[in-house]
Amino acid sequence: MRILFAVGIAVFIFQINLDYIESYLYDLRIRSQLTTDNSGNIELIYITPQTVQALKGMPSAQDQNKILRMLIDAEAQVITYDFEITETPGSLAEKKTLAETIVAHKNVIVAGRNTTLKGEEDQLLLRPPFEKISQKPAPKTADLLNFAKDGVTRRMILSYQGLPLLPLELAQHVNPDINLKDVRGRFDFYETDQAYIDFRPAGSFPSSPFEKILSGDISTARFKNKIVLIGTDLELSDVEYAMTPYSRQPNAMTRIELLANTIDTLIRNSGPLKVPKYINWFFILLASFLTTHIVLTMKPTKGLLVLGGTLSGFVVLCFSSFWVFGWWIPMAAPILAIFICYYFFIPYRLIVENRRSWEYYQKNKLLSQVEELKTNFISMMSHDLKTPIARIQGMTDMILSDSVPLSAQQREAVDTIKHSSDDLLKFISAILNYGLIESQGVQLHLQSKDINNLLTEVIRKHEFLAKVKHIHISSELEPMFPVSMDADLMRQVLSNLVENAIKYSPEHTQIRILSQETSSSVIIQVVDQGPGIPADELQNIFMKFFRSKNAKSSPIKGSGLGLYLARYFTELHGGRIFVESSHGKGSIFTVELPIEQGGKNA
Ligand code: ADP
Repeated sequence: MRILFAVGIAVFIFQINLDYIESYLYDLRIRSQLTTDNSGNIELIYITPQTVQALKGMPSAQDQNKILRMLIDAEAQVITYDFEITETPGSLAEKKTLAETIVAHKNVIVAGRNTTLKGEEDQLLLRPPFEKISQKPAPKTADLLNFAKDGVTRRMILSYQGLPLLPLELAQHVNPDINLKDVRGRFDFYETDQAYIDFRPAGSFPSSPFEKILSGDISTARFKNKIVLIGTDLELSDVEYAMTPYSRQPNAMTRIELLANTIDTLIRNSGPLKVPKYINWFFILLASFLTTHIVLTMKPTKGLLVLGGTLSGFVVLCFSSFWVFGWWIPMAAPILAIFICYYFFIPYRLIVENRRSWEYYQKNKLLSQVEELKTNFISMMSHDLKTPIARIQGMTDMILSDSVPLSAQQREAVDTIKHSSDDLLKFISAILNYGLIESQGVQLHLQSKDINNLLTEVIRKHEFLAKVKHIHISSELEPMFPVSMDADLMRQVLSNLVENAIKYSPEHTQIRILSQETSSSVIIQVVDQGPGIPADELQNIFMKFFRSKNAKSSPIKGSGLGLYLARYFTELHGGRIFVESSHGKGSIFTVELPIEQGGKNA
């Protein structure tokens, strides 16, 4: 079901156009790139308002010719003009000279801002006297009708109708091995080959002002073997500039710097590589499946943490693979898948859980009613049993003390009646005791008492029982200060431990009773050499009415309430009781009472 849902979500998300979000996340990745280095092959020369001021107008044909000559002499690899050359001021003769210089040098190229259809190249011809100059198209490729549709330039056109455009030609000047088909991230778009630009922030390429080169203030030596791009930064119109992933200001980057980024991407062959569609599919499926699984199976806080972790892991993966390998993994769709699955399944899970807790509530209600009935029934029955048993005991005492002699057989029978009714009374008292505690709780009557005295008293009380089974009780009691406790309750606790030790140990064994004091507590241990407690029963022996399988099948009598009450009373004192035992190797029951304790009232 989950897989089906995940596939459904993936198919649904694949239909949605998430280009706007994706482009934002793409720009973020470009902006956060670790390196802003470029190949160092490109130099920019700007005509700025300062140039116009210094030259008292736009550079004349004569100035342009002069600067071209200077660059040619400096052995620049390619010189590219990117401004309206036909608008050049100057006399016709000067313009002609400029045009001749340009035509005569193959490495002087004039960039065109448009492309033409095949066979219509003559539309790019310039007005006389520049008609002999062949322009090379280098159009700006803003995302106006496709992808983000926000007018930001992210792509470059490599070729149109099979003809390479200016950036590719210029890059080939530096590295003749650059081949259209091998350009990293190349894709077909209508009649063009395109690729994404590996942008650097504006100002990353070295630049010099036109007038400073003309005046000789800047040496032309720096242009040797460089691609020199001459353009304007006059802030006259949007045509001069492009918006980039770094900035959506209309003048974010000049045309020649955009051209520089484009050429440099080709030289470094570092265009971002969009991963194949199936990888996008894979991440959408994974995201929806994981989210569904997490929401349906994990606890809310853990689920949220794991989901947050998965989301950040995915973001880190996308960013780091972009920075390191230039892989562009679409992020918008998988992230949307996480959100859709999360918000779809949370209410679903809430409904399921609500229903489940309602069922628990009903079951609980029923259970507590049954429990109450059971307790009432037991105490009622115990009450009613107490009187007939007291009567039986009275009668047996009377028979035994009567002067009428009994035969040995009769005496034995009456003795058995007496012992059995004793056992029964003990059992009933335990149940009544428990019932009382359950319904009314216990009020602690704290008094300062030496636990060793209590232990000695308990040992003495059980000596006879031990003697019958030839069990030797030894005690190692460390002298200690009195502790605040309810002596009656603690006597019951210790009696139960000692009685159990005697009850469950075989004849001719030893029982050791130890007491010691630490800085914060008093520790009492009852160690026997009895049968021990099987591992699977250890955690149950302090539960009410629990009797081990062995105890149940043996003639040893008990109610299964002794240890339950012992733990209850010990915990009321703020202490704890626990057992270490392994089957066949005896048991060690330990009671730990805090020295400083106020005691709780139940
Ligand atoms: P009971 O009335 O059955 O003795 P308790 O609550 O005192 O009830 O003890 C619960 C169970 O723990 C007993 O039935 C017995 O199986 C086991 N048990 C308690 N003390 C010992 C011991 N010293 N050695 C072995 N088993 C013990």
